[in-house]
Amino acid sequence: MWWNRQKQKTPTTPRSRKIARLDRIFSQYIRRRDCGFAYGYCISCGRVIHFHKCDAGHYINRRHMATRYDEMNVNAQCIQCNRFTEGNIQGYRRGLIEKVGEKNVEMLELKRFNSCQLTDSELDMLIALYKKKLETLEKNQIFLK
Ligand SMILES: [Zn+2]
Repeated sequence: MWWNRQKQKTPTTPRSRKIARLDRIFSQYIRRRDCGFAYGYCISCGRVIHFHKCDAGHYINRRHMATRYDEMNVNAQCIQCNRFTEGNIQGYRRGLIEKVGEKNVEMLELKRFNSCQLTDSELDMLIALYKKKLETLEKNQIFLK
């Protein structure tokens, strides 16, 4: 029921609502990128996962704003790894090196220390950008079917 869905903290300020909206669109984009309309693999353990039953898991914790919306830092992950084994971080690092190479992973690990304050208009731009990217991705994937 819809009233049971509100388990997560409800965003209260306009800014936190924007961040929540961007998180949602970005997560959808990442899962669509990695799973298409059906199946993909968990970045940390390699298990087969489904678009609707997986998470977009962060390698560098999402509290670091500099890497929160970095496409390399976020990948489709099984719920088990993301929620119950704290991201299965060693497996994640191995999987990420396989996917993007060790140099990129090391750069990502440094980038987390950058300070990054997204303004409201930057958040709006990112929301618009990822809506567009998601639409394009879905259009192309449907075309390929
Ligand atoms: Zn996993």
